[in-house]
Parts: sequence; structure tokens; C-alpha cells
Amino acid sequence: MNLQKNMELSEKLTILSDAAKYDVACTSSGVDRKGSGRGMGNSIAPGICHTFSADGRCVSLLKILFTNECIFNCAYCLNNCTTDVRRASFTPDEICTLTMEFYRRNYIEGLFLSSGIMVSPNYTMELIYQTIYRLRRIHHFNGYIHVKSIPGADSALIEKTGYLADRMSINLELPTADSLRQLAPCKSRTTILKPMRQIQNRITDNKQELMVYRETPRFVPAGQSTQMIIGATPENDFQIMSVAESLYEKFQLKRVFYSAFVNVNGNSMLPVLPGGPPLLREHRLYQADWLLRYYHFHVSELLSEDRPDFNIFLDPKCDWALRHLEYFPVEINKASYQTLLRVPGIGYKSAERIVKARRRNRLTFDDLKKIGVVLKRALYFITCSGKMMYNTKLEEDYICRNLMGDKTQVPRDIREGGYQQLSFFDQDMRADFHLTDAQIIPPSQQIVSL
Ligand code: SF4
Repeated sequence: MNLQKNMELSEKLTILSDAAKYDVACTSSGVDRKGSGRGMGNSIAPGICHTFSADGRCVSLLKILFTNECIFNCAYCLNNCTTDVRRASFTPDEICTLTMEFYRRNYIEGLFLSSGIMVSPNYTMELIYQTIYRLRRIHHFNGYIHVKSIPGADSALIEKTGYLADRMSINLELPTADSLRQLAPCKSRTTILKPMRQIQNRITDNKQELMVYRETPRFVPAGQSTQMIIGATPENDFQIMSVAESLYEKFQLKRVFYSAFVNVNGNSMLPVLPGGPPLLREHRLYQADWLLRYYHFHVSELLSEDRPDFNIFLDPKCDWALRHLEYFPVEINKASYQTLLRVPGIGYKSAERIVKARRRNRLTFDDLKKIGVVLKRALYFITCSGKMMYNTKLEEDYICRNLMGDKTQVPRDIREGGYQQLSFFDQDMRADFHLTDAQIIPPSQQIVSL
């Protein structure tokens, strides 16, 4: 495959933004940096990619691959070396131009740069490094940058890239080493976990250095993340969540992303999922992940060897509460913060507000509504001053029936069967970049049916 030297930049953008759409590991929260007054852009802690789909996917970074001329043959990937797709590669300067121009037009607030593996892992990692070096040092781009670390790349390259990026990620791809061997024979657990460990160690050292000397350059200040494909291999939810929990504990990852498997290649080694991509399963995994990170749950409380998969009808917190009715009802005016966190319908922010507000007054159900508690879920599990909201029964079947009537148990975009990734090629972008119809991604390809 030759590098298509004469390919128009907009055509490359069409190919390489489309090629990046299955990579979901791209939220950008966690770094706070003001404009320097000299360079361009800034980055804010709540996340510069403010647009998220309901299932947690980020859609507003300039999200591209450096190249899809990949020499690897991961069976699940549309860009693997055996597929018949249009190929393209950017140069570092082209990515700088696109990033700066999109930023100036306010289309994006940062860059998410991933890549296939061209020539060798080191060759590709060097190009990625060159790109963000130019963005930071020549164009003085101060916005958010998330880059993928290439498995098998030299540790020195990863280290110097980490001093320029806000976030780095390396995809675990599949939950077990066996699955990886089977579907991604060019990758191994070692080439993935080694750089993950390196980045984690450097982040820890860097925090110590910053305490001593504030001017020390910051290394991957927004932390690292990873992604697992769900449904391509037979692992159950318990195995997947146990891997995620271990990654959070052992590698201090900021996020684990779950990507519902789509058999884009029609590969016979891969399963044909009769109901389409397992979107609801992916959604339940994200909900459980949230419970691990913000609600102090452990995987062993949610799932077990005997009960290895999530309930598709109820979210994991409701499901847990129904199996532990002995902890309920919880008295809102007395329960500890930790106990409040376990009540369905009470989020961590509502729990904080409850603890604060009840210092002044005894709280009523009306107060809880104003605080943001989702009473249609919480009402079965709480009392205010010793009274339930309605005359309900603390009984598994009764509560389960009522909770299942709540449509929000399954998000609307999954119920209605659609998820759409934004395209750079909408009308405004076309006008700004003088793109012709032929250069636009056909609408059918803009739909990402995950
Ligand atoms: S390394 Fe594997 S997953 Fe990544 S682009 Fe190449 S074939 Fe696809």
C-alpha cells in the first residue's frame, strides 16, 4: 500500500476521521489549563469535549487516525492489513493545519489522535510525537490533546510524547490474553501492559516532582485510559468488570471504555450477534463502571461466578438494591453519605446535597425532589422522618415490577435503535472548507450503528 501522496487533505480527512469512529476512548476531562496569552487554546477541567452521546461517547474532538495503512491484522478491525478499504496517511504538518483551522473555527476544542501501525510501532510513534511536538512548540497549541500510545513502541518515545499530551491511552482491546492471541496475533498483553505501567509510574513520579518544583513539565496530566471490545469474544460481564476493576486499582486508569462489537469485516472467526451490536450490554457496563468509580461498589457485590451477567431490564444499582432489601428502607435524615450512595435514584451529587441540607432542616420528599433525587426510583427504598412516600411494600417482586415500568431503565437512543456520530462534513463545515459533494462522506456512512 503506497502512501497516497497527492491525496487532497479533505479526502484524507474523510477517510481517516471515518476510520477513527470505532475508537471510543476519547473523553477529555481532567485537565485544567488557562490560555497562556502567547499560544492558542485552553483546556478546562470538566472536559473540553462537552458533547457526549447518551452512552458516554465523546463526539466533539477532532478525532482522527494518523494513518489507516496498518501492517497489523487484528480480526475485528476495519483497518487491518487484509481489508479492502481506502487507505490514507496524514503528515504531521497536515494534522497541525487541520487542528489549528478547526480550532479557529470553533469546531473543536482539542485533538484525539489515534493511528494504525505504519512500517513499525516505533516509526508510527515517532510520527505521532512529531505531530504533537509541532502543535505544541511551533503552533503553540495549548488545547487538549489525547494520543494513543502504540503497542510495542520504544519507551523513550512514549515518555517524550507524554510530556506533550494531556491524556494517553493504549487499548487493552480484549478482556483476556487468550482472546487477544486469537484475534490480534500481532499484539500481546505485554506490549499493551508494559507502556501502561510505564505511563502510570511516570505520572506518579511526576506528581512527586511537581510538589518539589512547580515548574517541572507535566506528564500526561489528564491520566490514561483504555478500551475493551465487548461481545467479540465469550467473556461474561463478571470477567470484563473484574478486568476493569483491576485496571483501576493496579494502573490507576482514569477511564475504561467499553465498545460494543460490530462485525465490520464480516469475519467468519467473529460472532454474528443476532440482535446487532450489544448496545444495552455496553450501557450496563458503563453504569457498573460508574458505580465502581463514584459509588464505592466492588465488582464482587454486583456480579459473581454464579450470576456473571448484568440484568438487562434493570440498571446495576437497582438490581443490587433489590437483592439486598435488608439494607432498606434508609432514613434520609440520618443515613451516612456512604449509605445514601447505595440508594437507587440518589446520585453522588444528590447525596452530598442531602448531607449538607439536613444540617439546617429535616428533609421532606419535596425537598428531595428539589435536590435532584429521582423519586420514582428512590421512593421504594427511603423514608423521611420515618415515613415512606407512599404506602409501598418492601418486597422484591413488587418493587421490580414497578421499576421495570420506568422507561429510563433503557436509554431512549438504545430503545429506538440509533446512535449517530457527528460528522465534520455538515453544511457549515462544507461551506468553510469549500468541499464538493464528492468529498462528503455519504450519509449512510455517517451512521455509526454500534
Ligand atoms: S493495530 Fe489492529 S486495531 Fe489498530 S488499526 Fe491496526 S489492525 Fe486496527
